[in-house]
Amino acid sequence: MEYSIVIPVYNEEESLKALQEKINTAMLKISSDYEIVYVNDGSNDASPNVLKTLAGQNSKIKIVSFKENKGQSAALAAGFRASRGTWIITLDADLQNPPQEISKFVPFKETHDFITGVRVKRQDSFMRKLSSRIAAASRRLILRDTTTDTGCSLRMFKREIIERFPFFKNFHRFFAFLVQSMGFRIKEVNVEHERRAFGVSKYGNLKRAREGIFDLWGVFWLARRLLRYEIKHD
Ligand code: UDP
Ligand code: MG
Repeated sequence: MEYSIVIPVYNEEESLKALQEKINTAMLKISSDYEIVYVNDGSNDASPNVLKTLAGQNSKIKIVSFKENKGQSAALAAGFRASRGTWIITLDADLQNPPQEISKFVPFKETHDFITGVRVKRQDSFMRKLSSRIAAASRRLILRDTTTDTGCSLRMFKREIIERFPFFKNFHRFFAFLVQSMGFRIKEVNVEHERRAFGVSKYGNLKRAREGIFDLWGVFWLARRLLRYEIKHD
């Protein structure tokens, strides 16, 4: 299988049908050798039923369902493990990441291992953008993380990465930085971003900031303790 599209879903009942249609259209231009792995992160709306209906109409769809809500990072990791593609693509379920942007990543498959989006015109609230800027400045200062947009969920990367990546809660906010620290080749590509059309954001700024500070120190340590070695064959 060439591509696996992994999508974490927590109470996104109104977006899923339109999202799936957009994915179908976008992938027509890229490949027919792909699967979509939806991870239902303990939704308590109609998302599980909508996903079942969609899967009944499309054999490319796979569903992983959590017993209870465990967070976006757990959902992503579970989706990666259930996937089979050589390349893994991630995007959010809420239509904020337009699937047609995936095609912008494809030209970099030969030269890079991890291709990550940069939301050039980010469609979020002022407070949300401000808190991201503060978080990015802290990461730059403490970690020397130069990733332009760690919050962009639209990414494409080689399966090999998930076989070596040290997964932890909130890993997705440090994904590009740690992957780069592991020695992989990273490419940033500008992508579109849409306003959330249905439902609500699952994060509050305060909780994100509190967890962000805690995670920053964990990643500070981790980046210095990652194992990096190459086997010599002679
Ligand atoms: N999400 C999830 N579990 C959670 C919170 C979020 O699977 O506990 C999913 C959510 O359904 C969406 C993605 O993660 O597909 C990003 O969430 P959201 O849009 O709320 O984040 P924001 O865009 O506000 O950063
Ligand atoms: Mg969103």
